[in-house]
Amino acid sequence: MEAGKIIDFRSLSEAVGKFHIGRKKVLLPAMNRISAHLLAGTFRAFGIEALVLATYGGLDLGKQYTSGKECYPCQVTLGDVLAFIRGERERLGRAFHPEDYIYFMPESDGPCRFGLYNKFQRLVLDSIPGLDRLKICSLTTQDGYSLAGLLEEERVTDFKKAGFLAVVAGDILDRLVWRVRPYEREPGATDAFAEGALHRLAASLETWGAGGNYEPVLAELDEILAEAKDLIDPQLPPKPLIGMVGEIFLRMHRESNQDLIRLLEKYGAEVENASMAEWVNYVSYERLREARKHLTLHLRLLHFTQLRTCLRDILDFGLNLLFQEATQKKIYRRTRRVLDLAEDHRIAHLEKILDRSEVFSFDVRTEACLSIGGILQCAAGGYNGVVNVYPFTCMPSITTSAIVKPLLNERQLPYLDAHYVGSFQPGREAALSTFLYQARQHFGRHGRKRRAETRNRPEGLFP
Ligand code: SF4
Repeated sequence: MEAGKIIDFRSLSEAVGKFHIGRKKVLLPAMNRISAHLLAGTFRAFGIEALVLATYGGLDLGKQYTSGKECYPCQVTLGDVLAFIRGERERLGRAFHPEDYIYFMPESDGPCRFGLYNKFQRLVLDSIPGLDRLKICSLTTQDGYSLAGLLEEERVTDFKKAGFLAVVAGDILDRLVWRVRPYEREPGATDAFAEGALHRLAASLETWGAGGNYEPVLAELDEILAEAKDLIDPQLPPKPLIGMVGEIFLRMHRESNQDLIRLLEKYGAEVENASMAEWVNYVSYERLREARKHLTLHLRLLHFTQLRTCLRDILDFGLNLLFQEATQKKIYRRTRRVLDLAEDHRIAHLEKILDRSEVFSFDVRTEACLSIGGILQCAAGGYNGVVNVYPFTCMPSITTSAIVKPLLNERQLPYLDAHYVGSFQPGREAALSTFLYQARQHFGRHGRKRRAETRNRPEGLFP
C-alpha cells in the first residue's frame, strides 16, 4: 500500500458486505476450479454474468501488496483479482469501469484470519486509483452464508438450492478424478475427460439451474460417471489409500499445493481429499449449534424476549442443514449406483468422533474440528496414511498437527504435514516418497478400506 496515504476505514463497512448484484459482473476466485466454474454456471442460470478469475498468474502482484505476514491464500486471491483488473484495464482502456464488477470474497468469524481477507483486500483496492468503486461482496458465516440481499427476495431460495447442487456436483467430479486417474487405462485420459465433463455440467447448470427441476443436471452427471467408469482398467490392483485434510484453500487449490494429489498418485497412491460441501455444512452446523447454546443460556437467565429469536434461528439453520445433508445424501446415493465413489461424512458424525476421543472439541471451532475429526475417521476407517495440507503458519492446521501426530504415531498410521507458502521446498519429493513407502508398508500389513464402505461407519479408534 502507498506509504503515508490516509486510510478511510469507512469503506470496510460501506464497500465490503452484501450488495445487490444487479447487472454487475461477478468475479469468483478459483479456490477449487471445478466448483468455481459450476457456481459461475449457476449464476448465469439466474441471468447474472459471472467470471472465474484466472489464478496464480498474479502471485507477484499479491506479494507486492502484502507484507508476508498475511495467510498465503490471502496473497494468492489478492494477486488474482489485481491481475484481472490490470488485464481488464489494458483490454478496455477508458471503457473500464470498476463499478461494473463485484468481487466475491466470503469470510468467517474468528478466531482465525479468514475474517480479515476481504477487509485487508478492501484497503489494498482503495489504495489503487479508481478501485474504491469495485465492491467486495462478502458472505459471512455469522448468518450461515445467507444470500439474502444479493438477489431479489423471491429468487434467493432457488439460487441457494442450485448453488448447493453445484457444490455437491463439483465434489463428485473431484472424486471421480481421484477414483479413476490412479487406475486409468490410458495416461492422461481422466484429466482430459474431466475437463470436458466440467463444461458439460456447467452448461447443464446454466440451462436448468434456475428452474427448480434439477433432474437434467443429475442425468448429465449419471452419464458422465458411466463414461468415466470405462476409463478404469479393472485389472489394476488397489493402491494404498491416503486421506487428505487441512485448510480448505490449500487442499483445493492445485497451484498453491503444487498439485499434491497428482504427486501422491505418481508415488503410487489413491487419494481422497475432504470435500467443499464439508465446509458449507460445517458453517450451517456451527450456526445451529450456536443458536442452541443461546437458547439454553437465555432460558437459564429467563430472558424470554430473546427466546423467539433463538427459536427462529434454530429453525432456520436446522432446516438449512437438513436440506443440505438430504440433498447430498440423495445425490451420492444416486452416484454410487453408477460408480463406487467414496461418500461424504456428516458433520455431526465428526463431532461425535471428537467427543469420543476427548482430544479436541467443536467448542474451540475453526477447521481444526473438521481436520482432526477427519483424521481420526481415516485412522479408524481403513486408510493407509493421512496428509494435512495447509498454508505455512496456519493456526488451525498447526493445532491439528500437534494433536494428531502422537495419536497416529501410537497407531502407526503414516502422517505427513504438507505446508506451503509459494516456494519449492527441496526436500518435498523425498518426504512424499518416504511417506508413500510407509503407506505401502501399512497397506501390505492391514489392507485398505473396501470401496463399498461409506465414511459414516461407527469408529473404533477411541471406543
Ligand atoms: S485457516 Fe489458516 S490460512 Fe486460513 S485464514 Fe485461518 S490461519 Fe489463515
